[in-house]
Amino acid sequence: MFSLETFIRPHLLSLKPYSSARDEFEGEASVYLDANENNLGSLAGGVDYNRYPDPYQKTIKEKLATLKGVRPEQIFIGNGSDEAIDLLVRLVCEPGRDEVLLLPPTYGMYEVSANIHNVAIQRVPLDEHFQPVFEKIAEKQNERTKILFLCSPNNPTGNLLESATVEKLIKSFNGLVVVDEAYIDFTQSPSWSTRLDEFPNLIVLQTLSKAWGMAGLRLGMAFASPEIIGYLNKIKPPYNINVVTQELVSAALDKTAQLADMLQVIVQERARLVEAFASLPLIEKVYPSDANFVLVQVPNANELYGYLLDRGVVVRNRSTQPGCANCLRITIGTPAENDHLLESLQTFAAQANLV
Ligand SMILES: *Cc1c(COP(=O)(O)O)cnc(C)c1O
Repeated sequence: MFSLETFIRPHLLSLKPYSSARDEFEGEASVYLDANENNLGSLAGGVDYNRYPDPYQKTIKEKLATLKGVRPEQIFIGNGSDEAIDLLVRLVCEPGRDEVLLLPPTYGMYEVSANIHNVAIQRVPLDEHFQPVFEKIAEKQNERTKILFLCSPNNPTGNLLESATVEKLIKSFNGLVVVDEAYIDFTQSPSWSTRLDEFPNLIVLQTLSKAWGMAGLRLGMAFASPEIIGYLNKIKPPYNINVVTQELVSAALDKTAQLADMLQVIVQERARLVEAFASLPLIEKVYPSDANFVLVQVPNANELYGYLLDRGVVVRNRSTQPGCANCLRITIGTPAENDHLLESLQTFAAQANLV
């Protein structure tokens, strides 16, 4: 039986959070003299930029709850999902003592967040199909292992993790299991957020940075039990999502038809690129992708990376990641950008006599 209170760091269990002016008065008034704002107005323009934002982002949470099929109290909103990752490490890992468990190759921020907090990292590499190996993960866990980070679809490999293995891990891991679904909108696969009521130790991360096209606004979500969400709210900076982001995101969340249209283009382009890559002898391996990028293996990733850069195309060189020797991670661009990429790859292959 998972007991959340045994995982929260003891000093946070009893922490008295900052109480903001917006916490202490929630109703409607005609004159606000409670928050030391400038009531004359804002030099940035805008109607309410001189006012502090809603600390709990109620409007956005209501829209997200409807969109995602969860309850508002199961949602935490962060300054990017990177903020949620950082807060989760802070919430349960005692610096210098506790550990997190990572399955490389995977997203880099889990490691950086753990390092910032002086939290040790245990690693169990994914297998040759970039799938988690249940027995090895179970063996690695000890009483100091507080969080298991799973990323599905995984970055930088692009594949979904097998749901049977993920379920076994969530059920057997005595600690928090984070399933990072930054790329869930590019798959047909259901989100683990639909199973929150079954798993009190599950946290699902999503973001508006990828499919929704709002990376610059910084808004990420964590879905979990109301108890976990309550602790995240308690330790977050009070006004972590600014007024501009809240207004723009609230309006954007209504544009689900446009989202579907963009996703259709990206998924179609992904299929086109995968097929074109597979027919290029220059590319030795095209990894299956459920994301908005494709990982490919080439004979010399550094050389191709440099060549593409000379052509004005920047991709991500993931060669130093475990299991990713000579691998480039290529984001799906616009149809015209993808044409330019393919043309560049063909020219490179012709020069290298790889046609
Ligand atoms: C891009 C990415 C994120 C970051 O999301 P933000 O909301 O922009 O902070 C999180 N996890 C994975 C796996 C990502 O690839």
